[in-house]
Amino acid sequence: MTNAGFADLPGQPGAGPDAADGGSGPMPYVCQSCGAGYGDADLRWRCDCGGILDFRMPAARVADFRPAASGVWRYASLLPRAAVAARISIGEHATPLVLSERLGVLLKLDHLMPSGSYKDRGAAVLASRLSGLGVREIVLDSSGNAGAAMSTYCAAAGIAATVFVPAGNSPMKLAQSVALGARLRPVPGPRRAATEAAREAAADSFYASHNWSPDFGAGLATLALEIWEQLGGRAPSAVLAPCGNGGIVLGLATGFDALLRGGLIERLPRLVAVQSAAFGSVADALARGLDQPERLSAGAGTIAEGIACELPVRGAQVLAAIRASDGAAITVTDREITDAALALAASGFYAEPTGAVGYAGLRALRGKDGTSALLGESPVVIISGSGLKSGRALADLRDPSWWPAGS
Ligand SMILES: [Zn+2]
Repeated sequence: MTNAGFADLPGQPGAGPDAADGGSGPMPYVCQSCGAGYGDADLRWRCDCGGILDFRMPAARVADFRPAASGVWRYASLLPRAAVAARISIGEHATPLVLSERLGVLLKLDHLMPSGSYKDRGAAVLASRLSGLGVREIVLDSSGNAGAAMSTYCAAAGIAATVFVPAGNSPMKLAQSVALGARLRPVPGPRRAATEAAREAAADSFYASHNWSPDFGAGLATLALEIWEQLGGRAPSAVLAPCGNGGIVLGLATGFDALLRGGLIERLPRLVAVQSAAFGSVADALARGLDQPERLSAGAGTIAEGIACELPVRGAQVLAAIRASDGAAITVTDREITDAALALAASGFYAEPTGAVGYAGLRALRGKDGTSALLGESPVVIISGSGLKSGRALADLRDPSWWPAGS
């Protein structure tokens, strides 16, 4: 199911040799550790040396944006060539950027993506490349939204997906993947036991990890490009986003860096990573001047289960991105998160608790006087996941007696 009419668009004035079909030179995938490069058709989830792979995004040029496309594929000229050639599209359009007068902030509504979270941006690009390279079966590990997003796009692409999940996970988070046709493999033990099981299974399949995949990361960068266009061709003063593994932070960093290298912005917006107080490894490392986060104990857990991450896979990269933007990392308590989710809901924005974490960070930074020098005049808050994913949790918070007793 590809975007009707997309392939027939004429070339645009100013389009370079790579622009029509995406990509960035013959070796667009580069290892962070040893510098090895890999080509479009050379599919792997990490370098032969074990290092993390990055996609080298070209500099952004407005003339290369697809005028008739909205959302992820509008920026095809910046995305991996093999993904663009086999693109799967089921409505990953530009999400609204709206000014809430009541809340006094610009909100980027990425919970309105097809599967209900921003992760569809990455899943669309990764599943498209996998499909184009003939992959028919993948495994991944996820505790929720990444599994739902990959299940969605694998369903669209006809790829069989097996999702390894922590055995104690809430069924509500997993029902979506099951309904979409993915196979679930519950794994006893902590979250990382599911990761290990998925990697073992990948010996006979492909490990489509959203945290490791450079294609997934390239897709997430479209979030920055959309914000820039929706602001009339300028960067916001700051962007606040939930941060567990740091996918949104890195996606924003990649997209705004492409705009900076293209001469379309003069400086990067401050990236503000907002973490749960129970899983604050990035904020901790930033405060201590470390180059790499250290594993923090899970402690009592958090209601923001989407960012319950002890140690980010790309932790050093997340820290570097925040520092390069002169940004910040802060933590918020579960109480601050649920207050933020209810405040959003009271203004018509239905976010799951994890999806409200960026807004919780804004409230914490603005404090009582409602302003923040750090955030500047035009901060944007990312709403990352839909309230439809959180079942009764938000309703119970609003009114514990709302459901008839005994039923
Ligand atoms: Zn390497």
